[in-house]
Amino acid sequence: MESDKIRNIGIIAHVDAGKTTLSEQILLHGGAIRSVGKVDDGMTTMDYLRQEQLRGITIRAGVASFEWKGKQINFVDTPGHIDFSLEVERSLRVLDGAIAVFCGVRGVEPRTKAVWALADKFDVPRVGWINKLDMPGADFAGTILEIEEAFAITAIPVDWPVVKDGVVVGAVDLIEWTARELREHQSRKLSAIPADWLAFAEPARERLLEEASKDDEALMEQILSNAVDPATLIQAIARGCKSGRLLPITGGSALRGWNSATVLDSVVRYLPSPSVPKGLEDHPGAGLVFQTSRGEENRRVVVTRLFAGTVRSGGLIKKAHSDDPPDTIGRIFKVFADDLKETDFAQAGEIVALEVGQQWRTGDTILAEGGQEVRFEADHRARLVLELALEAASEEDHRLLRIGLEHLAEEDSGIEWSEEAETGRCTLRGQGELQLEVALEMLREAHTPSFKAWPPHVRRRERLRESVGPMKEKAEWAGQWLEIEAKVEPADDGTTIHWAGEVPEGIRAAAEAGIREAMGNGHSGHGSLDGAIWTLSICGKSEAPPAALGKKILDHLGPEILKSAGIITEIPATKALIQTPDEHLGAILAALQSKGVEIQAIDTQRNGSTIKAFSPLEPLLGCVTLFRSLSKGQALVSLDPNGWVVESA
Ligand code: GDP
Ligand code: MG
Repeated sequence: MESDKIRNIGIIAHVDAGKTTLSEQILLHGGAIRSVGKVDDGMTTMDYLRQEQLRGITIRAGVASFEWKGKQINFVDTPGHIDFSLEVERSLRVLDGAIAVFCGVRGVEPRTKAVWALADKFDVPRVGWINKLDMPGADFAGTILEIEEAFAITAIPVDWPVVKDGVVVGAVDLIEWTARELREHQSRKLSAIPADWLAFAEPARERLLEEASKDDEALMEQILSNAVDPATLIQAIARGCKSGRLLPITGGSALRGWNSATVLDSVVRYLPSPSVPKGLEDHPGAGLVFQTSRGEENRRVVVTRLFAGTVRSGGLIKKAHSDDPPDTIGRIFKVFADDLKETDFAQAGEIVALEVGQQWRTGDTILAEGGQEVRFEADHRARLVLELALEAASEEDHRLLRIGLEHLAEEDSGIEWSEEAETGRCTLRGQGELQLEVALEMLREAHTPSFKAWPPHVRRRERLRESVGPMKEKAEWAGQWLEIEAKVEPADDGTTIHWAGEVPEGIRAAAEAGIREAMGNGHSGHGSLDGAIWTLSICGKSEAPPAALGKKILDHLGPEILKSAGIITEIPATKALIQTPDEHLGAILAALQSKGVEIQAIDTQRNGSTIKAFSPLEPLLGCVTLFRSLSKGQALVSLDPNGWVVESA
């Protein structure tokens, strides 16, 4: 598939704006489904798709592909809840563009701003859809004004819905400059734009032409000679949309299906097709895993966005930044909404499901054999700031708990778990309270072991104060001997081990195990030590020293070196953003003050305020729930892990 035919898109909206309802409409138009589910009754197609059985393969795909006017739309399911920032961020990374949904009744709210800011952060071009125009009080033009006021963007309607008494009775196509009458799902083109519609349509068309023709001489000339070619106009808007200057907007009612096809026209016309990231033009193959699931006979399936190069069935792939051996791709599928289509080849810009042999996790980067190391997503270990202990009631429950934890971690790299060898006590780590809460719920639901979960607490981490070494140590056994030299330097995260010179494989593995153990044990019992670069070399040996000598040396030398490097304890810091209607501002500020949280700024907007704070995470535990209840559910709280600070004694 040529990449200029592809649109990788998703919907961004805050809860309740109508994301799920509009998704259904989109899938219906795309022929991917035959009827709409009912959001208000529970199951909808997009939710259902995640677990659907297709040709005997259960794929939690999170993507549905279909055709619209000659383009292939890969519709990515973005998580609805903004608190899961890692998942939201991941889905934004695999998109090339998004549909921003606004509620035509409530207009731009603080919650809308939070969603918008996230899309800005990832530079995702957007088209707009103003929803719920069937409701009393809905205001298409008013919402557009609010959008322009709230965001530094020119919002231009490209299609104007005409609403009479809560019914979208027609629309003016401001690109083609034609009008149509709408009756339920039927649309009939009118011979001329009705005179009473011209009152709003004419100024809208004028403004559209004016804004679109900035920096576009060809279009400007066409306007002057009164011969605007829709294709030229569309191109000009697409350029403005890609650069973030223009937001093309349409609107209607997702619930009734009124005018909803215009949103797909916007997608194919204005949102960009995928392009290969800078510097990866010659890469043989690189992609980001954003869903994982188990296939037939427990075969693993990873849904991957390819950014560069190609992947082939039978080809070798490797996990970026990992020492795991290469994996072989089995079958490759394109995930059409109602079917899986097998293919033996996929290329940059596509989203495909790959059968693989090893364990992959969402957030992993796939590299085709021989490709340089790249990473599409930051290493999240530094963001795993909360942990909680789990204990199962019986041995059988313990077994089930372990299986559940394994599945959880496999599905989301934002979660990690470990088990203490002696006690069997398990620890679950994540980045937010809500995320851990949901994880516990899923454990209970899917695997039903009975276990006790302690409340989450904030992790500590230990860091090296300074570089040390090289230091040497020698060990002997049955007349054979080995001497190893080691030095260590502090690093951002992870444990990296380099060897200078030749080293037999067995000794390498044994010595590295010793180092990882020393790092894992940490120093003061607060947590494991993170962020070190070790450099080792063999400075002398007898003919055939046993490999175990490598471990023996590092078991002693490792902790020794760490001790002289000195250890600092750090605690996670958090950036908090709390958006609230003004009547609840006082209560929230008082709560923050009583917790000793330092407030950095309070921004006032027309319909609410945004509090910005930076704080160690600890005093903010429980705040999402607290602020929601203080504000009767209206505040939007986002806590973002933001580095680590040295813990003061
Ligand atoms: P989400 O939380 O963004 O996924 O929003 P939903 O699609 O679940 O919609 C939230 C609520 O708004 C539901 O009760 C929908 O039935 C309702 N809703 C969605 N779109 C419309 C619309 O166009 N008109 C009306 N009247 N209600 C809508
Ligand atoms: Mg929803």
